[in-house]
Amino acid sequence: MRKAFISPAKYVQGEDELLNLGYYIKTFGESALLIAHQDDIDRVQAQLDATKEKFGVKIVASHFNGECSRKEVARLQEVAKEQHTDCVIGLGGGKAIDTSKCVAEGENLIIVPTIAATDAPTSHSAVLYTEDGEFDDYAYFKQSPSVVLVDTTIIANAPTRFLVAGMGDALSTLFEARATARSFSNVNAGLPNGYLTKETKPAKNTIAAYTLAKVCYETLLENGYQAKIACDNNVVTPALENIVETNILLSGLGFESSGLAAIHAIHDGLTALEGTHHYFHGEKVAFSTICQLVLENAPKEELHEVLDFSLSIGLPVCLADIGVESISFEEAMEVAEKACIPEESIHSMPFPIEVEAVASAIIAADKIGADYKKKHANA
Ligand SMILES: [Zn+2]
Repeated sequence: MRKAFISPAKYVQGEDELLNLGYYIKTFGESALLIAHQDDIDRVQAQLDATKEKFGVKIVASHFNGECSRKEVARLQEVAKEQHTDCVIGLGGGKAIDTSKCVAEGENLIIVPTIAATDAPTSHSAVLYTEDGEFDDYAYFKQSPSVVLVDTTIIANAPTRFLVAGMGDALSTLFEARATARSFSNVNAGLPNGYLTKETKPAKNTIAAYTLAKVCYETLLENGYQAKIACDNNVVTPALENIVETNILLSGLGFESSGLAAIHAIHDGLTALEGTHHYFHGEKVAFSTICQLVLENAPKEELHEVLDFSLSIGLPVCLADIGVESISFEEAMEVAEKACIPEESIHSMPFPIEVEAVASAIIAADKIGADYKKKHANA
């Protein structure tokens, strides 16, 4: 059986770690192109200045326009060429990071996430948008980032909602890994260099990736609540450090190397419901996790464990929590149909997928979550 595992070449995490950015720039040369929103740059300007001075490196501003579009990527690649920069830095949340991956094309890339809201920083893929912000395409690169540098002081000072959303994304990892393993489905890590094609998903998950997915879930249960409290109070504690690692590293390696299944497909389907648009990826993933557990009829203890965890840190457990007050069967069918298109990861579940069954699971998950929340509130 062919198996594959992919990861960044280096992951480093610590308090005030951004002060060492210059050291990593030096491993590639003298200068770096910085791709980031201006407000993110403003947040860390003092650290950028300090590391430039300490290591004698040049950080070239790119005036990123905020959209990960083909046109902006081409413009930034031109800036990198003109300025003869030796590496690319993607600093911030989702779009700056994705754009930097597209600009670097799998080489000499340093990712500096300033929030721990998703598992994107470690991956070798990005999402391209049109200039108007509509979905365009997925892009895959020959390698994951060279360095993922995480400053826990910065993350502890970002709004807690980001950290909690990151835990929602991480919550899905084990359940999707388990489904992928049971069905012997393929994982993204097995994609050959370059862009995704329909025929090319040729490798299964490794023991390594599956083990990380298990630890990802265990660490959430063990440290999630304490990490949330630490972030509420802008302090770095061992629990917060464990959750930052879980959200970024464990969840990131997990989704690429141990597989996606129904949860992320249902998440994608939920975009059919207007109300969900103002919620973060990880928040919608948290509710979709309950949907997959209902769809596969997971043990009741497991379902309750997930519900208890989500409620303890304020993750959504029902549709009302993600902006949808009520749902008809027809609307649930619309979500399910989107989730069940042939390209979706839902077909990695270990049984044949029927659209009606997915719609039913969404409706039941919503009611179970809402009911559990009500009982929990009264307890
Ligand atoms: Zn995700």
